[in-house]
Formats: sequence, structure tokens, C-alpha cells
Amino acid sequence: MNGEKTTKGMEMFKVKLTGHDYRYEVFQILNLFFDKSQLDFNSSDSWDIESVLDLNRNAVECNIYKDGDVFIKKQIKLHQLDKKDIKNAIKMAILNAAEEYTGKKMPWGILVGIRPTKIVHELERNNYEREEIRDYLTSNYHVSYDKALLTIEVAEREKRYLTKKENSVSLYIGIPFCPTRCVYCSFTSNPLGKNQRVVEEYLDALIREITATLDCLNEKNINVDTLYIGGGTPTSLTSEQLRRLFETLSSRLDIKGLREFTVEAGRPDSIDEEKLLAIKEAGCERISINPQTMNDETLRRIGRNHTSEDIVEKYELARMIGFKVINMDLIIGLPGEGVEEIRRTMEKLRVLSPDNVTIHTMAIKRASVLNEREYSDKSLSAERMYEIATEEVRNMGLYPYYMYRQKNMVSPLENVGYCKESTECIYNIQMIAENISIIAMGADGVSKLVFEDENRIERVANVKDVGEYIKRIDEMIENKKRAIDIISK
Ligand code: SF4
Repeated sequence: MNGEKTTKGMEMFKVKLTGHDYRYEVFQILNLFFDKSQLDFNSSDSWDIESVLDLNRNAVECNIYKDGDVFIKKQIKLHQLDKKDIKNAIKMAILNAAEEYTGKKMPWGILVGIRPTKIVHELERNNYEREEIRDYLTSNYHVSYDKALLTIEVAEREKRYLTKKENSVSLYIGIPFCPTRCVYCSFTSNPLGKNQRVVEEYLDALIREITATLDCLNEKNINVDTLYIGGGTPTSLTSEQLRRLFETLSSRLDIKGLREFTVEAGRPDSIDEEKLLAIKEAGCERISINPQTMNDETLRRIGRNHTSEDIVEKYELARMIGFKVINMDLIIGLPGEGVEEIRRTMEKLRVLSPDNVTIHTMAIKRASVLNEREYSDKSLSAERMYEIATEEVRNMGLYPYYMYRQKNMVSPLENVGYCKESTECIYNIQMIAENISIIAMGADGVSKLVFEDENRIERVANVKDVGEYIKRIDEMIENKKRAIDIISK
């Protein structure tokens, strides 16, 4: 180590690549252990970490240096020389070296930027048995035994929902407004206060996009499988605005014929009886009411204008109105929360007994919010909190059915959706499995066109900014028509 520090006082590492240029892959693994600002790939005079590909010896190496001498050396023999195997071996050597250097174990090993269940489905297609899949994940990716079992369990559940009718798509509609903005928000969300007038203009534009999209799908005889209205917070709209949106949908779409229709009601401070009735009468049986935490102090700290009592009240109202499935989202690692807080949240959730619980792990820019010390303390307790939450939901009779991983989590964990028997959210599974094209409408909607035969996905994005979306709605509609044209061929 050269003793150099970042401006935040963290150790700096100069990184050298020898015999290859897989900088992104090297960065992905080092970034699990160190902040981006600690890694320098541009030094030409000296280095602390060296990743080597030596094709003469069919081997890769990762060396960590201290005072000019090799301090840690990890070597892996290459058995195959295709690109994927070489990249994985490079990642594995770095993972082994960094784990020894930091003393931290990464439960997901080198699985970064890959959807874990996709690997399971692929292995199953190649006739691997359950135990073989588990061993493949633990040895080829260094995934821990527990995470390998979790991945297999989720993959088995999601498999039931991966079948679909020929020539079908799912729809996503985005409402990018919220009562206020939460401090951790990474979505396109505009606080209502400043934007009341814009909401109406947005809805006009959105209705134009929905109308054109549904007309185009009907013209081409494309079936709609599932419909998801998300955000932001869709219930930021008034009940009249919601009814207008649903009328547009039902004028061109057989809502009763959908396999699933979900509305993310989201924050309790946006929900009232009129809005819930509008949603129910539109034929939707599945909503989310997302507490994130049941601790009032945390709710205040994260910028929410409601209490845990409001969450209970709106949940009971939704039950009384008769929604069949209610999901609740939780976040592990919210500012100021520890083991005590998550226990309290889970106790309150147990009483409510929601049908789905989605457990997210907070994702933050590590260096900008917390210093290194705070981060490592935080990640330890995040792991414990995560264990408590998952144990509790399993005790509530829920099982995991979909899962994804994100960058910059406070701990190297995962986001998992749990559900009671047969209440899986099919749209969530489809989003992760990428087995069906999703046509997304609204600002920041990203349509994903799936070409299964070619193992390829094409993305068609609407603009993010609400003002731009309204201004450029004709262009958005044209792009959408072109996208539908491509998948109908
Ligand atoms: S409710 Fe969700 S989308 Fe809205 S501000 Fe909070 S985190 Fe962002």
C-alpha cells in the first residue's frame, strides 16, 4: 500500500491490469469492497493491486502489494479460454484477494450485474439437478451456500409464472408524483406541492400515449398479459383523475381478461376512501401500501408526512373495501434504524398480516453519506436486521418469489419479494425474468422489447423530465408505435 488517502481520508488503491483490458469487471469486484473514489486505474508509476492474465501459463492472478512487495497473491488456473471464463476467473482472483485483505466475505461472490435466477433457469434448461445447480453457484461464482439455496427457491417459484400466451406484452404506466420527496428516493418523483398544475397536463399527455399504444396493440392483435401502475405514487392523483385514467384504459382494454392488474397506492398520506374505491371499481384487486418502516421517528427523518398509525388505518380501509392482495414494502438500513427498530416494525406488520412483503436493502452512495467506519458498522447491523426481517416474514407464512440486486447497497444483500401461497405479483417476476416485452408509458417509462429466440433485449426510453415528456409527447408516441411494430414482426 502506498499510504495515499482520498479527500475523505480513505485508503487509496492504484490498480494495474496486465495482459488484459477487463477494467469494468475488475472495477465491479473491487467496488464491492472499496468506494469508487478509492480506486485509481490511471497510475503509471506504481500500483497496489495488479490483475494479471497470463495466457502462456493459462492462469490469472491478483496481487496486492505492500511497500513494493507482494503481500497477497491469488492465482486461478484457466481450464477454458473463452471470454466469459477468463472474465470470471479474473473476478474470482480479485474477490479472493480482496476478501483476504479486508476480512469481509461477499455472500454473492462475483455475481454482480447478473440476475441470479436467470443462471438457475439456464442450468435447468441444460438438465442440471437441484444439487448440481447449488454446487455450480457456490463453486463458479463463490455464492454462499445460503444464497445459492435462496436463489434456487426463488427460481422454482417464479418458474410457475414464466409461461405466457403467444403474442402478448405486459404494460407499465408511471405516475411520477409524490406528496413529498423521501430522502433516499432514486426514482423519478416530483413533489406534488410545486406541481399541482403540471399534474393535469401530464395526465392529458399520458392519456394520449395510452390511447395510441392500446390502439396500436389492438390493431396488431397483441394480447395484454399484466398491467402495473407505479410511480412515484399513483394515488397522488385525485380520485377524479384516477377515474379518468381507468376510463381510458377500460375503453380499449379488457380489464377483466388481464392475468393481473396492480396499482401501487404507495404512501398512506396519498390514500383516501374515494381513491381506493376508484381503483377497486376499475377492476384492480392488488395494491401496495408501503410503510418502509413502522417507526414514526424514522418516517419523519426520511421526509414522510405521516405516522405508522396512518399506515394501519389505510391498510384496514383497503381491507374493508375488499382488495384481495395487499403488498407492503420495507427498507432495511434506513437512517437511524437498528435491530430494535426493525423488530418493532416486524411486530406491527405481523398483526396486519399483508399478503406480500417486499424487503429492500437501502442503496446509498457510500462515500458521500457515510465514512468508511460508519459504513462498516452499518453494514453489520444491516445484515442482522435483514436476518430478523426475513425470519419474521417466513414465520408469517410467506415465501420468497422474486429477487433482484442493486448497486450501492449498504450491505451486499438483495431485495426479495415474499408472498402468501398463490399471491405472487406476476409483473414483478416478469420484470426480473425478462421473459415478456414490457411496454412502459409515462415520463421515464423504459419499454423492454424481449427477443427470446435471439436472447436479446432492446430498450426504448421515454424522456425522464415531466415537462419534456409533456412537450415531446408526439415523439414518445411515435417511438412507442415503432417499438410495437418491431415486436409484432
Ligand atoms: S414514495 Fe417512493 S417514489 Fe415517492 S418520493 Fe418516496 S421513494 Fe420516491
